[in-house]
Amino acid sequence: MTDTMSEIRGGLVGYAHPEEIRTRARCADPSGQLTSLFFSEDIPEIRRAKAICRGCEVRIVCLQGAQERREPCGVWGGELFVNGRILAVKRPRGRPPKHGEQLTA
Ligand code: SF4
Repeated sequence: MTDTMSEIRGGLVGYAHPEEIRTRARCADPSGQLTSLFFSEDIPEIRRAKAICRGCEVRIVCLQGAQERREPCGVWGGELFVNGRILAVKRPRGRPPKHGEQLTA
């Protein structure tokens, strides 16, 4: 894994204007502090990553690219990818609670 989110998002290379996409990405973070958020197993963190994507102006091209590359993991284009597919609902580990609301991302 690379140090910065922008390097990780280097998978966007191959699109018409990859530099423009990288500079407009809300996750572009030279410090690399967002990387763990976008590749987290923690449901609240996954929600935070998805929330960042919702306001991203390159979300659609990011999502299309992730689908084409069959990303093995992480939040891309506002969706959580697992083994190259979008996971609609991420459930917490362990036994589901008997009562109350189920946490999902
Ligand atoms: S949609 Fe999300 S993962 Fe894709 S570039 Fe924008 S902020 Fe980053």
